[in-house]
Amino acid sequence: MLAKHSSTYANAPYWLADKTLASAAKPFDRAQLPASVDVAIVGGGFTGLSAAITLVRAGLSVAVFEAGELGSGASTRTGGMLGPSFSKLGVNGLERQYGRDQVHASIRESLVAFDWLVNFIREEQIDCDLKICGRFRGASHPDHYAGLVEQAEEISKIVDFPAVEVSRERQREEAGTDAYYGGIVYPTDGVVQPAKLFRGLCEIATREGAMLVEKCPVTAVDRVNGRFDVGFAGGKVSAGHVIVATNGYTGGPFGKFKRRLIPIRSAMIATEELPEDLVRDVTPNLRCHGGTERLVAYYRPSPDGRRIMFGGRAFGRGDQPRLYVPYLQDFMTRLFPQIASAKIDYAWSGMIAYTFDHVPHIGELDGMHYALGYCGSGVGRSNYFGRKIAQKVLGLAEGKTIFDEFPFNSRPFYTGKPWFLPAIMKWHEFADRRGW
Ligand SMILES: Cc1cc2nc3c(=O)[nH]c(=O)nc-3n(C[C@H](O)[C@H](O)[C@H](O)COP(=O)(O)OP(=O)(O)OC[C@H]3O[C@@H](n4cnc5c(N)ncnc54)[C@H](O)[C@@H]3O)c2cc1C
Repeated sequence: MLAKHSSTYANAPYWLADKTLASAAKPFDRAQLPASVDVAIVGGGFTGLSAAITLVRAGLSVAVFEAGELGSGASTRTGGMLGPSFSKLGVNGLERQYGRDQVHASIRESLVAFDWLVNFIREEQIDCDLKICGRFRGASHPDHYAGLVEQAEEISKIVDFPAVEVSRERQREEAGTDAYYGGIVYPTDGVVQPAKLFRGLCEIATREGAMLVEKCPVTAVDRVNGRFDVGFAGGKVSAGHVIVATNGYTGGPFGKFKRRLIPIRSAMIATEELPEDLVRDVTPNLRCHGGTERLVAYYRPSPDGRRIMFGGRAFGRGDQPRLYVPYLQDFMTRLFPQIASAKIDYAWSGMIAYTFDHVPHIGELDGMHYALGYCGSGVGRSNYFGRKIAQKVLGLAEGKTIFDEFPFNSRPFYTGKPWFLPAIMKWHEFADRRGW
């Protein structure tokens, strides 16, 4: 069955369709910035806002600089799927690289990070459609099912992270497709409406006194007498500390960080409103979903249960919906022919940052603090790392994390332009066709 490709969608995140969300942040007037602050945070997404909240609550003066509009990076473009985000290398793959103890500790802390964010949202009463709906991960090839089960068993030896095997015979109880060869349900994973979560963070940060400055790219950072001059068009601020929270959008004066990151574009589409039973036919338990493909697709119902939101890779330079919408529609239709004729109402993309070791990184480089490289699984990680990096700035023991132990390396001659990606994508396409 072929999809009828849509061409009349809005090229904007569905999450911001409610216009009150787009204007939720109350930006600080840059002309009113003081000459000096305790901490300058570069990047106004989840990482930057989470760090700002911890710092202002500790009594520090904080300016957050965002190049575009607040939240206009990945944080309001994400699928909003939430889990502990264990590394894609798997337990054994990581152990070969880093040793058993470090890897087990990182898996335990990933669960702590997830629990921390869920508790934070609940305690702060952030209205963001948080739902612990569970996640179904389908085996996209017959050989992958055993690997999924084995991976769940490995994890369960380290942490209490429930996983339920779903055989191919019972798969339609979880996903309305025969395209998988069984799968696993992780019942404790969840979803949020990311723009609502972002609005909640902005409200807390602003209320507590953080200065959130938008449309203000940081263009220079210079060390002066043990402090930093943070420069932007038309001005500069002296800061005691700098936090780099730019993830997939890292560039400009942050070349040393950029050459440690591989920026990749990810895209999403949201269908028109569908009959509720049709959405239930796709995802009977209204969970979030993904497969085991290398070029993975991820999807979930909208918070009101009326749309399917489907994400995956994007193509070309910049945001090119005319290239990724047909690709995602075809992918969705291959999995779910029953929604082949669904119109697409929204299409958008954003940047994520991979790292060479598939591990997120936090630490200090050239005297600047950073939290970066969430490898596409950043809703939980960015919020948690933002808090951790702030605790480091505050000199608190709680700022210590096992992720300090992973060296943040680049590769020789790599400057941050991933010229090799098209070839790698082709290879993944080839491998996916063979189920490798
Ligand atoms: C389409 C898509 C789907 C995704 N789905 C999921 C998902 O379902 N689950 C999940 O866990 N993760 C998902 N992610 C990943 C997740 O959204 C990100 O990892 C997370 O939002 C990163 O947050 P951040 O604050 O670190 O970065 P961002 O939100 O990207 O913010 C970084 C900001 O830095 C700003 N910036 C850059 N340079 C400068 C400068 N010089 N001066 C000032 N500002 C600057 C940028 O403008 C940007 O707004 C998805 C991402 C995308 C794009």
